[in-house]
Amino acid sequence: MPLSEFQIIERFFTRASGGHDSVVLGVGDDAAVLRGSAEHDLAVAVDTLVCGVHFPAELSAADIGYRALAVNLSDLAAMGATPVAATLALTLAEVDERWLQDFAEGFFVLADRYGVALIGGDTTRGPLTITVQVLGHLPPGKRLSRSGARPGDGVYLSGSTGDAAAWLRLYANPTPGKDDSEYLKMCFARPEPRVMLGRALLPLASAAIDVSDGLLGDLEKLARASGVGAVIELDRVPLSRALLTSFADDALELALTGGDDYELCFTMASEYERQLKATGQTPDCDVRRIGEIVAGQGVVCMDAGGEVQIESRSFDHFGVR
Ligand code: ADP
Ligand code: MG
Repeated sequence: MPLSEFQIIERFFTRASGGHDSVVLGVGDDAAVLRGSAEHDLAVAVDTLVCGVHFPAELSAADIGYRALAVNLSDLAAMGATPVAATLALTLAEVDERWLQDFAEGFFVLADRYGVALIGGDTTRGPLTITVQVLGHLPPGKRLSRSGARPGDGVYLSGSTGDAAAWLRLYANPTPGKDDSEYLKMCFARPEPRVMLGRALLPLASAAIDVSDGLLGDLEKLARASGVGAVIELDRVPLSRALLTSFADDALELALTGGDDYELCFTMASEYERQLKATGQTPDCDVRRIGEIVAGQGVVCMDAGGEVQIESRSFDHFGVR
C-alpha cells in the first residue's frame, strides 16, 4: 500500500526543530510559528496549487490568482495571525500576457484587502503550478493551534461547508436544472479567508483548524492533535440553500467530507460565545456550534436516532480513490 500524504510528512519530514530556540511550532499545524521580536511572533505557511489537481484548467486566471493567496491566508487565519507578506513561486507553461494580467489582478484584490505585501518569489517554465508562502504576525507567545481542545469545549464552524465540493461535482458532471452553481462556484473560486474571525478567536478559542480537506477529516486532525474526541450533532451542521437545492440527497455528506471551503472549525468554552459576538469581528460569516469535545478519541456523528456512521476520510493526494 503506498504511503498517504500524511504518512510521508510524518515519516520523512517531521523532526525536532533542530534545537533552534526560535522555532515555537514546527510541522503539524496550519502554519509554523517562529519567535520574532518583542512586538510579535511570526507565522509561516505555504501551499501549492497544481493545475488539473487543485483547480480545473478552465478556471479563470483571476480566480486562480485569488485562490492561490486565499488558501494560504486561511492557514494564517487558523493560527489567529495577521497577514503581512507573501512570496509567489509561479511555474508557467507559456507566457500569456492577458492571463498574467488577470492572475495578478485576482491575487492583488485579495492581497490589498488584507494588507499583504508581495515581497518575492520565483518564476519558472513548466506545467502550471502556483506556490504561495505567507507570513503573518502574532502577539508574542500567543497563537491558535490544533492542540488545545479540552473535553466540554464546544465545536464551532464558520459559514458552511460542502459548497466548493458541490461546485466541483457539478462542474465534472453538468446537470440541467442545478441552477445555484454560480454561488457554489464562488465558494470554490473566491473563498473568503476568515482572517478577522481568526484574530477575534485568539483570546477565546482553545484550538482551531481551517477546513481544507473536509470537515470531519480536519476536525479529526484537531482532535488527534489535542488528544481528545469530538461529537458532531448532524442536525446542527449548516447546509447552504444552494447546496440543498443542487444536492438534496447528498448535501450533508458533502458538508461533512467535501474539501476546499476554507472555513474555520474551532473549539471554545461555550461561555465565550457572547464575547465572540461582542467583538463584532464576525460580520462576514455566521458561526455555529455544531458539537462538543469529549474525552477519548475520534469524531462521532449523532442525529436524533443516535450514532451515524460516515465515511470520514480526509482528502489525501496519495490516497486510494
Ligand atoms: P494544511 O492543509 O493546513 O495546508 P497540510 O495538511 O498540507 O496542512 O500539512 C500538514 C502539516 O505538515 C503542516 O504543518 C505542513 O506545514 C506540514 N508539511 C506538509 N508537507 C511537508 C513537507 N514536505 N515537509 C515538511 N512539512 C510538511
Ligand atoms: Mg490548514
